[in-house]
Amino acid sequence: MIVIGGGLAGLAAGVALAESGWRVRLFEQRPFLGGRATSYVLPDGEHVDNCQHVTLGCCTNLEDFYRRIGAVGKIKFFDRLLFLDPQGRRGVMQAGFLPAPFHLTGSFAAFGLLNLLDKLSIARAMLDILQTQGNPADLQEKGGISMLEWLRRRGQTKRAVERFWRVVLVSALDEELDRTDARFGVDVFWKAFLSSSTGYRMIRFDEGREESADAYILAVPHTALAELLPQSVKQSDPSLANLDKIKVAPITGVHFWFDRPVMKEPFVTLLDTTTQWIFNKTALYGRDSNGTANTVPAGQYLQLVISASYDLLQKPRQEIIDLCLGEVRKALPAARNAELLKATVIKEAAATFSPEPGVNRWRPRQQTSVPRLFLAGDWTETGWPATMEGAVRSGYLAAEALLRSEATPREFLQPDLPPDGFIAMWLGSNPSLRFPGSVS
Ligand SMILES: Cc1cc2nc3c(=O)[nH]c(=O)nc-3n(C[C@H](O)[C@H](O)[C@H](O)COP(=O)(O)OP(=O)(O)OC[C@H]3O[C@@H](n4cnc5c(N)ncnc54)[C@H](O)[C@@H]3O)c2cc1C
Repeated sequence: MIVIGGGLAGLAAGVALAESGWRVRLFEQRPFLGGRATSYVLPDGEHVDNCQHVTLGCCTNLEDFYRRIGAVGKIKFFDRLLFLDPQGRRGVMQAGFLPAPFHLTGSFAAFGLLNLLDKLSIARAMLDILQTQGNPADLQEKGGISMLEWLRRRGQTKRAVERFWRVVLVSALDEELDRTDARFGVDVFWKAFLSSSTGYRMIRFDEGREESADAYILAVPHTALAELLPQSVKQSDPSLANLDKIKVAPITGVHFWFDRPVMKEPFVTLLDTTTQWIFNKTALYGRDSNGTANTVPAGQYLQLVISASYDLLQKPRQEIIDLCLGEVRKALPAARNAELLKATVIKEAAATFSPEPGVNRWRPRQQTSVPRLFLAGDWTETGWPATMEGAVRSGYLAAEALLRSEATPREFLQPDLPPDGFIAMWLGSNPSLRFPGSVS
């Protein structure tokens, strides 16, 4: 069988089918695998990530894929998130000793970058997610509602929206709150933060010839698929006729190399700035910018990430560098005297599909109406936003669909993280409240 596209979706489908005894041929147009979750070497020899990729403990299929390919040991978990505001004030979130959903309660109560009113409004909305097990009634409204509208209905304060909901969700979903379907926003909190105490843990990573096969999985981005498919195929399957309705959202990565260390933490979140995250790549790579082991690093390589970066797309690169450098120097005092040796800006205009309200109705299933033609990709119907987890899920779903059509069914999709702590007890004592997909 043939897989076209060597991103996580194509790789996950290929691995699953190879394990099922199929001979898989994978075609990738670029000279390396990984798709959007890749890294490469600049002309000067510097190794850069396309973008820092972050995932959460609730991404069970991604973890399963890493296990299958023997890479699970390369994933780093972090339990602590540091927030900095422009005035230099700090806030920390980390798991305490309380069981889920109260594992973050201690650090949330002490979090100095929000006031009591902000926290109470957030707690109210969280309680709603908890009581409805991630399914508040207004998520079912026809056409979907935006996350901003969902928050407005729950009386969130301006600061709670800007310093909490926006910080988490714009990074997680690569879209502004007014353009995000509340379904995706609520899912982030239900799956990642509330139902399990480990769900929020962060990981890093890092011609003209013809070919034929018994079956095909097209695992390219939807924008590429629309161009790849002949008009006749698009017309034969209505779900392929609406690919152009799935919009895309940008992410900008800014890479700075300083002559000396300017931060100790592996990563920080900035509040009220254009820059959303600063990743200490020197610490995360475990070596300095020259590639030598960094017991005493000479310089420091930082990567800044700005999701939903619509405003930056038209800006000249130097303007972006100046803006972000100013923010870094404000947030990290040690950067004020450090020399910026070089800087790169990577604008990904189509980083992810936009999770705008109602987008799920345009996402096709992995099985098409064309015999032996299957789709995979983070943009296909997975229920997940554009993430590495969504891509792997789509690959597994495509492999399952293919095996079903051959009457040799096999399951690859992993269950969600089981709820733990009080949530598990609560669900256990209310059998009618068990949510689908739970393995508890
Ligand atoms: C800047 C950036 C930051 C991100 N950050 C995160 C993050 O922190 N956490 C997270 O979970 N997700 C993140 N994502 C999203 C994540 O990278 C994607 O959801 C995921 O990698 C998509 O995988 P995929 O296999 O569906 O698609 P892709 O990775 O796009 O793979 C498709 C492959 O098909 C190939 N292809 C296209 N056309 C053809 C053709 N005609 N012939 C052969 N091959 C072809 C492409 O070269 C590519 O390798 C980020 C994405 C970007 C761009």
